[in-house]
Amino acid sequence: MSSLGARLKDRVKRSLPVLGSIIEVETATPTVVLTYDDGPHPVGTDGVLRSLADAGATATFFVLLSSARRHPELIPRITAEGHEIALHGVDHRRLTAFTAEEVTRRTVDAKHELEDLAGTPVRWFRPPYGAQHLATWRAIRRAGLESVLWSATTWDARAVASEKRVAHALADCRPGTILLAHDAFAGPADGVDDGAEPEVDRGALIATLLTEFRARGWVGRSLADALVQGRPVKSAVFSS
Ligand SMILES: [Zn+2]
Repeated sequence: MSSLGARLKDRVKRSLPVLGSIIEVETATPTVVLTYDDGPHPVGTDGVLRSLADAGATATFFVLLSSARRHPELIPRITAEGHEIALHGVDHRRLTAFTAEEVTRRTVDAKHELEDLAGTPVRWFRPPYGAQHLATWRAIRRAGLESVLWSATTWDARAVASEKRVAHALADCRPGTILLAHDAFAGPADGVDDGAEPEVDRGALIATLLTEFRARGWVGRSLADALVQGRPVKSAVFSS
């Protein structure tokens, strides 16, 4: 029997997420949610797709429309191989620099264009840099998408040794975690200049992580696949 305090706390937890973004999945299965941002890219996405196929894993790809327009053939390949397509933005500029009306308009148009490319409905949106104000979050909802953040990262956008990336990801991973990784590095063609792309073999990184997952009895799954036997956990996370 739970105490009144615990029940109240649980009710508060369940009522707050109305304003929240998905940060993990509550699940009884040994599932880690794999998510990729900033692609598609002929080298990075190809390497990741090969490693996912080798391990029998699935992932959600939060693609940039700017990148999808450069490599449209990769979008149907991602879905044909059993993965999920989601939206990361028209380009990689911070949405907090736009008005809510602009965010809604840009996101609605991008959702339609991406759905045409993918041939599937698009449900999820990940704001570039995770940057969203409450007004941004509402604008994304108005565009018919749900904001998805993460609860662990691979440090694959940083210039660190690959062992550090693996260790950092594993330190925060457990069943239900949403792991952030990248199959490309956003640059000037995506409206931003975040410096030089760090050296990273994206296919090898996920292959190593999936081997570590297997040793722990875990599997890697897309968000859609993970939610078949789980429910989203939301948190009101806002930042500029
Ligand atoms: Zn990004």
